[in-house]
Amino acid sequence: MEGQRLESIDVLDPRWSDPAPAEAVCDALNGRRIERLWRRGKYLVMSFEDDVHLVMHLRMTGNVLLADEEPKHTRVRMTLDDGTKLLFVDVRRFGTGDVLLGSDALGEYFASRLGVEPLSPGFTAEALREQARGRRQPVKAFLLNQERVAGVGNIYADEALFRARIHPLRPVGTLRKPQIEALREAVVESLEAGIDAKGASIDDYRHVDGARGTFQDRFLVHLRKGEPCVRCGTPIEKMRAAGRGTYVCPRCQRRPR
Ligand SMILES: [Zn+2]
Repeated sequence: MEGQRLESIDVLDPRWSDPAPAEAVCDALNGRRIERLWRRGKYLVMSFEDDVHLVMHLRMTGNVLLADEEPKHTRVRMTLDDGTKLLFVDVRRFGTGDVLLGSDALGEYFASRLGVEPLSPGFTAEALREQARGRRQPVKAFLLNQERVAGVGNIYADEALFRARIHPLRPVGTLRKPQIEALREAVVESLEAGIDAKGASIDDYRHVDGARGTFQDRFLVHLRKGEPCVRCGTPIEKMRAAGRGTYVCPRCQRRPR
């Protein structure tokens, strides 16, 4: 898609770009050349010529698909100059698209929402320790807070905490230096394993070509309640942490006193 021109964008569901009206999105993007596709945290970014940016978030059930056939629940249709169609499909309609004019506006948008990028060189044990220092917040809630570490969701938090042998309810400020280092590595490994498997398709997520991801077949703890721990054989337990269904090995991840 990079280098192609956006022939047209049809926002079929105005809620997608709310509060900006659909016409404003079309006016800003129609006819512009796509310079770069990238990602920050859970946001997908299309950067256009003249420093114009479209920032999309899939939220619960959103998908971005390259397809000719339009599935039900297509919310946005983008047509490129070679005829390719990019569709934003979203059953629950929580997905969003925001247009930002200029790099400064884009920078501010992310600065107010997102912390360090876990797959960047800036994600060091030192940076993580700095964020965690003095906080009583449980480590799982800390990981899910996008303003601390950007892009870690429920699956990846569970997988990372299991890899690092840390209980989800442990206050993050009490983690020792070796645990912080283990957690940093575990977050990176979990995300890379997910990317390698093209994501997890438990419910709606699909790859851009419509294929299902396979990470759900490789989970170490997530959704494995009652199954034996891959390390010690103890049955995996389900609990609640940060308001989310959370999976732990009660032996490998000792509950804090
Ligand atoms: Zn175990």
